[in-house]
Amino acid sequence: MNTTKYVILGGGMVAGYAAKEMVDRGLKPGELAIVSADSALPYERPPLSKSFLSGKDNEASILINGRDWYREHGIEMRLRTVIEHVDPTGRRIRTGSGEEFEFQNLLLATGASARQLDCPGNQLHDVFYLRSLKDSENIRSRAATAKQAVVIGGGFIGMEVASVLAQKKIQTTLVIREDRVWRRMFTPAMSAFFERYYVARAVRIVKNGNIAALEGTEVVRAVLLNDGQKISCDMVIIGVGAVPVTEPFEGNGIAIDSGVVVNEYLEGNYPGVYAAGDVANYPDPIFGTRRRVEHWDNAVSQGQHWARVILGDRQPFVHVPYFFSDVFDLSYELWGDSGGSTETVVRGDLNSSSFSVWWLKDKRLVAAFVMKRPDEERQIAPEWIKAGQTVSSENLGNPNRSVLEAMQR
Ligand SMILES: Cc1cc2nc3c(=O)[nH]c(=O)nc-3n(C[C@H](O)[C@H](O)[C@H](O)COP(=O)(O)OP(=O)(O)OC[C@H]3O[C@@H](n4cnc5c(N)ncnc54)[C@H](O)[C@@H]3O)c2cc1C
Repeated sequence: MNTTKYVILGGGMVAGYAAKEMVDRGLKPGELAIVSADSALPYERPPLSKSFLSGKDNEASILINGRDWYREHGIEMRLRTVIEHVDPTGRRIRTGSGEEFEFQNLLLATGASARQLDCPGNQLHDVFYLRSLKDSENIRSRAATAKQAVVIGGGFIGMEVASVLAQKKIQTTLVIREDRVWRRMFTPAMSAFFERYYVARAVRIVKNGNIAALEGTEVVRAVLLNDGQKISCDMVIIGVGAVPVTEPFEGNGIAIDSGVVVNEYLEGNYPGVYAAGDVANYPDPIFGTRRRVEHWDNAVSQGQHWARVILGDRQPFVHVPYFFSDVFDLSYELWGDSGGSTETVVRGDLNSSSFSVWWLKDKRLVAAFVMKRPDEERQIAPEWIKAGQTVSSENLGNPNRSVLEAMQR
């Protein structure tokens, strides 16, 4: 039996940033163990569909903490260790082979896994999903000689991968089920902007595309759509969403509802058992709802927050949801939650790559998208969303007025 005061189950982004925060706050050697199915130390996941995939980054450059850092701080790292059972009352977690880790405080940080596409041929060689470093390495290595690729899925993973492959001069087709890219997040005008940008950079976009089958004998050779269209390819990357990894906690009394249900301190229904990151379903007091967020900043902030809570600074987690992405030469950021918004206002020009989009709900700012805009726009976006700031849409949309003039007192 291994016994440590704190155990983090899952060695991903939450674990990397939680451990760093604990060390900064005086963690003593021998107090923390991280148990992870991964074969690599905790790393940044966003580069897997961007700079790592393109070849600009390598494993060492995306580690959250250096190779020796865990040893130097007396943190036990157990890699390639899959936990199959969590016992919140006996306060231990167990692998399939029966090895146990006992804890006083446990953080469930198992993240999410790539949603599988259910269609004939999905087991063929050169059909990839993208979640781990290994997945990205495999795609990178196949892409080195590929001539034609099909990317399935019009969310951020699909869009990022398509942009990297196109820049590698691979003939790339993006197949999306919806009638426009990233329908869930973008307004129609934003989708239209990105579609134009992609098409101008040689990405073919097939909309309303339902996959009938992936074809090939051993290796994928084509994607067949329900309408009979066949797209030749020598690799397929599937990015159709993610699902929280909750299997090890199911049936053990831990409350699960689209992720592990936690309170404002990220604590679940057993004292001393917490969850953070992609797997945590937490209360968001800013929007008065519960949510589970599958983005970088949420994993970083919740990992750090958990570390502070268990080390004595018991504050509620209050945070504006945030997301960023890089595609081709564009970088953009998105804050808040546009669900239920009643109005959108654009600043800048949707025919250029410098614009921002602001979602209002009954005059209050609820979400903002900012790309290549003055710094003040990115600064006030999260502040105003957090404060529920009411704004004048007329002033906000007026190019001759600064964004600050849109504030209504
Ligand atoms: C390719 C890619 C690109 C992304 N790009 C962006 C981006 O541009 N912007 C953005 O905001 N967000 C991005 N994200 C999202 C962001 O990376 C995630 O939100 C973040 O990684 C979540 O952190 P986590 O610690 O909750 O989960 P993860 O980082 O997924 O870590 C989960 C860990 O749990 C381990 N684990 C799971 N089950 C078990 C088990 N039973 N036993 C032991 N260990 C287990 C896994 O091996 C892994 O180490 C991206 C994600 C991916 C996959």
